[in-house]
Amino acid sequence: MFSKKIPHTLESDSDITSPLDLWYQERHNDEVSFGLHVKKVLHSVQSPFQRVDVFESTGFGRILTLDGLMMCSDRDEFVYHEMISHVPLLVHPNPKRVLVIGGGDGGTLREVLRHDCVQEAVLCEIDGEVVEAAKQFFPSLAFGLNHPRAKVHIGDGVDFVKKSAAAQFDIIIVDSTDPIGPGVGLFSGEFYKEVKRILTPGGIVMAQCESPWENKFDLAKVYGNLKEAFSSVYSMVGTIPSYPYGYWSWGFASDDVHPFESINFEKARAIEKGTKYYNVDIHKSAFALPNFLKQKLHGVVKNA
Ligand code: SAM
Repeated sequence: MFSKKIPHTLESDSDITSPLDLWYQERHNDEVSFGLHVKKVLHSVQSPFQRVDVFESTGFGRILTLDGLMMCSDRDEFVYHEMISHVPLLVHPNPKRVLVIGGGDGGTLREVLRHDCVQEAVLCEIDGEVVEAAKQFFPSLAFGLNHPRAKVHIGDGVDFVKKSAAAQFDIIIVDSTDPIGPGVGLFSGEFYKEVKRILTPGGIVMAQCESPWENKFDLAKVYGNLKEAFSSVYSMVGTIPSYPYGYWSWGFASDDVHPFESINFEKARAIEKGTKYYNVDIHKSAFALPNFLKQKLHGVVKNA
């Protein structure tokens, strides 16, 4: 996580302004890494699930990492949170109850709550330390965590879904870490079948589905697991500079709703006034895939 030349020990909540040339580094695999120059280490704590770190970077504002992996940065978090939220919310005919699994930084919840039609947004995050770090260091992300229409539950999303009654939510957003550690259960076909059970008829699932450039996760399998539960699965792509390879994908799954043929344009125009990435043109074009990804997902997603 830190470049080798800087041995350091961190006290939790220490605020170290280092005279050293400090760099945060995320190693995507044995060949590729991503680095950001760091001004200060603002927070570092070991939770029962993962290491939670917050840095003040020179070029990307504050960044949140979990087990050394980039989760969000002040500079580009809006891309991910706007796309994972507004795309399903603007094609579902009448979304009233939304479930966010993971998403402890609050960014997805913030965007979901922009929609006045949402009567209740429930967030199920396994690690309370992530929520606390978001509240302390990312106020622009975390305001949704204390919102009157939001309900924050600290627990495992797999258990939460299993224990939920049928047909509870119109949209379910899986805003999880990678399919490793606590996140692995959130990518299985069995989990998505349970998710479908607690969706209302005509419901939509939106799940982060990793970088199209990364080979350590089999994207055909990641999307194929969604297809075990839903008849229509689409891949959506977008550019996020601080994420692996700067290019990300999400899965849109539903039995009844198309991802961009039924956009509620009136609502979309209103939402666009407050977004920095989402707009209707981006919404539609996000489902146009490059050929290398079409080949990877041929026969699995409808737009490949
Ligand atoms: N946007 C990020 C990405 O695409 O990697 C995800 C950000 S959000 C911080 C991911 C959250 O998922 C983390 O806070 C993590 O604790 C949570 N998480 C991982 N496994 C979980 C599980 N089984 N149930 C609920 N939350 C989980």
